[in-house]
Amino acid sequence: MKEILLCKYGEIVLKGANRKYFEDMLCREMKKRAKAYGNFDVYRSQSTIYIEPLDDFADFEGVCVAASKVFGIVALSRAAVCEKNMDSIRKTAREYIPAFLDGKKTFKVESKRSDKTFPLDSMELSREIGGEILSVCPKMSVDVHNPDVVVRVEVREYGAYVSAGRIKGAGGMPIGTNGRGLLLLSGGIDSPVAGYMMAKRGLKIEAVHFESFPYTSEKAREKVLDLAKQVATYAGDIYVHVVSLTHIQEELVKACDEDYFTLLLRRYMMTIAEKIAKQHGCGTLITGESLGQVASQTMKAIEVTDAAVKETPVFRPCIGMDKEEIVQIARKIGTFETSILPFEDCCTVFTPKHPKTRPELEKVLVEERKLDFDALVEEALESVDTVRIVAEY
Ligand code: ATP
Ligand code: MG
Repeated sequence: MKEILLCKYGEIVLKGANRKYFEDMLCREMKKRAKAYGNFDVYRSQSTIYIEPLDDFADFEGVCVAASKVFGIVALSRAAVCEKNMDSIRKTAREYIPAFLDGKKTFKVESKRSDKTFPLDSMELSREIGGEILSVCPKMSVDVHNPDVVVRVEVREYGAYVSAGRIKGAGGMPIGTNGRGLLLLSGGIDSPVAGYMMAKRGLKIEAVHFESFPYTSEKAREKVLDLAKQVATYAGDIYVHVVSLTHIQEELVKACDEDYFTLLLRRYMMTIAEKIAKQHGCGTLITGESLGQVASQTMKAIEVTDAAVKETPVFRPCIGMDKEEIVQIARKIGTFETSILPFEDCCTVFTPKHPKTRPELEKVLVEERKLDFDALVEEALESVDTVRIVAEY
């Protein structure tokens, strides 16, 4: 019996005139990922992408997992393919479905007939197939309200498909359909989650990471590249631009009031990030900030940080989330265990004992002017080392 994977789109169905563009992007992404698992035909029809193994070597289990991480897909069903006639559909349901009902008590059949020339309507089809399943699984019963398993029969353009249960898709919008964004990626829990969330909304992600060697270690850099690799399983390949802040931090320590260190450093980060974003065609910056989480994320502190950004919007998808909610996503996308490895970040070296939680921009600027801001920014930009993280799906 031949199995195929049916992937249903989410909100791009609503895209009207642009729909074809979104569908093409989605199909391309799916093809790229399926390729890693063998020989598959990937095509689309009727708001669904079909992934069909072309030989026995194709890794169907693998492609199911990979496809469940593609943004733009809301649900996936692995289905048995059959001909568009009742004998074939009955036979397939009898042979294919019982394995999925093992250990379950109740089921219902939902049918969809997008080929309207099919002689039975969906109610009749569901009834027929329900009866067929009961004849081979007599201990099961039908529960139309709260079944343990939903069996689906779909009569579509190219054939009929029988499936049981669904895999939840990654949701969101296809990668790249909303432009490019530059993620400020630290080694913490929040920023990889922020990158994932914005990739989910269709942004193609690049990343900038600030380090302060030798105050931060080679291991700290590797940790961040590992995090980028994990985010890449959803977001696709990621260029990580690594920038040295060592000289800036040493100068800050020499010249400025300690209470302002973090804020001043964050203004350097945003300024440098905005310049890198412009060089690489990224239309937004993305950070993992969450309101009130630390002294540099109070409303006033964010105002001071944002004032360093000239003309690029800053997206902060975690701003309204509790740490626990962020952790939940970090666990889901597999970044959490790496994020909690105890390596230092440039924000955690030279930290003030009494950081300002209600800074005034004027006072920050007085401190900032004690150094040649522009020259230090230019120098940092010359230190950029770009690493391409290749996605492993
Ligand atoms: P995270 O868990 O992501 O590290 P955090 O709660 O530790 O966040 P901060 O250290 O104050 O918060 O940083 C806030 C945001 O600034 C981070 O989410 C990230 O977007 C950015 N950021 C902080 N440190 C770095 C860094 N070394 N390189 C790049 N971006 C950074
Ligand atoms: Mg951090």
